[in-house]
Amino acid sequence: QPTTAILNVNGIEVIYNHVILVLKGVSLKVPEGSIVAILGGNGAGKTTTLRAVSNLLRGERGEVTKGSIELRGERIENLSPADLVQRGVVQVMEGRHCFAHLTIEENLLTGAYTRRDKGEVAANLDKVYTYFPRLKTRRTSQAAYTSGGEQQMCAIGRALMASPRMVLLDEPSMGLAPQIVEEVFTIVKDLNQKEKVTFLLAEQNTGIALRYAEFGYILENGRVVMEGRAADLGANEDVKEFYLGMS
Ligand code: ATP
Repeated sequence: QPTTAILNVNGIEVIYNHVILVLKGVSLKVPEGSIVAILGGNGAGKTTTLRAVSNLLRGERGEVTKGSIELRGERIENLSPADLVQRGVVQVMEGRHCFAHLTIEENLLTGAYTRRDKGEVAANLDKVYTYFPRLKTRRTSQAAYTSGGEQQMCAIGRALMASPRMVLLDEPSMGLAPQIVEEVFTIVKDLNQKEKVTFLLAEQNTGIALRYAEFGYILENGRVVMEGRAADLGANEDVKEFYLGMS
């Protein structure tokens, strides 16, 4: 395949609190411009993998104790989340994390904190609104009074305000009605195709993730147990039986 990897995770081991071994040698590759899904059940290690990439482990008393993580060939294990934003990598955390007391628009603007140029910020805001028309309608609403779907969109929109090249998306479907999940994934795909944003997402909802992603990695107990093209995984009998609930 001609596409180069934007991200390479090579055999990482992650330990929490110095003793709890959670990732036991996870490797994955994210081609530039792709959507890659990390799949698996509760506690499999999906969030931990994303946190390792975005260097958010420290706050959780976790650390990468083996392996390496490379962004376009550069080792990034020791970069701060802010350094990563500067290199175009932004994480959208699980549970949305909008500021409840701020309006949707104020929330979006907090994502542009590293940017100085007001014109650019305004243009970026407009762009976010073209992808998320719902957010435009709700721009003056306090986030606390918007729906779960709107808050998820707001969290993604806020990440986009930093003009990322890669977005790490943790469990975007969580707590949302199926129709809204579909709407969120459609926008993700749209951003991927039109803006060439690369997405690495963690999902328990294997069915939808495999329909929108190009590649998938299935984690079980801190190890990759299966990987491949999303279409192949979706057609795999074991995947159907254990993850799609329709053998
Ligand atoms: P979920 O969908 O529940 O987020 P996940 O696949 O993302 O699942 P992780 O959140 O990465 O899984 O958790 C993997 C394992 O690490 C779990 O056993 C969890 O209990 C443990 N773990 C996560 N965070 C910590 C922490 N801060 N300290 C200790 N153990 C942790």
